[in-house]
Amino acid sequence: MNIILFGPPGAGKGTQSDKIVKDFKLYKVSTGHLLREEIRNKTNLGSKIKPLIDKGLFVSDEVIDSLIEKILSNKKINNNLIFDGYPRNINQAKKLDFLINKYKQKILCVLNLDVDKNTIIKRIKGRQTCLKCGLIFNEYFNPPTDKNHPCGVNFLEKRSDDNDKTIINRYETYLNETKPILKFYNELNLLQHVNGTLKINEIYSEIRDIIASLET
Ligand code: AMP
Repeated sequence: MNIILFGPPGAGKGTQSDKIVKDFKLYKVSTGHLLREEIRNKTNLGSKIKPLIDKGLFVSDEVIDSLIEKILSNKKINNNLIFDGYPRNINQAKKLDFLINKYKQKILCVLNLDVDKNTIIKRIKGRQTCLKCGLIFNEYFNPPTDKNHPCGVNFLEKRSDDNDKTIINRYETYLNETKPILKFYNELNLLQHVNGTLKINEIYSEIRDIIASLET
């Protein structure tokens, strides 16, 4: 099965998808993470996209489509994917639909994390990612401890696009370009709403119940 985790930046998609990956043995596809890896590895693509990402602007659909086709055509992981932060606009959603059919796969559901703007801003401002294990923490709501994060503090990093100005740009882009995709998935009968303002484990419990009910 493939699942799309949908919601504004800072809604908790990364945190929840890590939990889903563990329980349902899925492979996570975060386009944001793949793009940041290009920047970290100082590739040609990385140097082209860094200014866009730092401003909170989208990377071109061509770049994203080719990253996604590489993954969907990989027989080892396909039909076992959770998409986090993708698709981001209606063209990407239509392209994904095309690729899903081309590689004879299915989308089980689109889980929409409903979260208000103020909560998002607080979550993004406290966000920290471990460069070693990839886990995401929040210095206010879910701080790393010896118990939940054995790597320690040395690998924790704040994202360069998690600053006041970029957060607002990313949220506005979400409202204008990304949120309208919900109508597309609603018409395909794939949309499921999740209350994303709850605590991490409460949100996950809602998600797990929805996936379990659709799997049978
Ligand atoms: P994220 O990690 O999902 O918050 O993404 C970080 C940044 O990467 C976004 O603000 C965009 O600049 C870029 N990005 C990630 N995914 C996409 C996508 N599917 N389409 C275009 N740009 C993207």
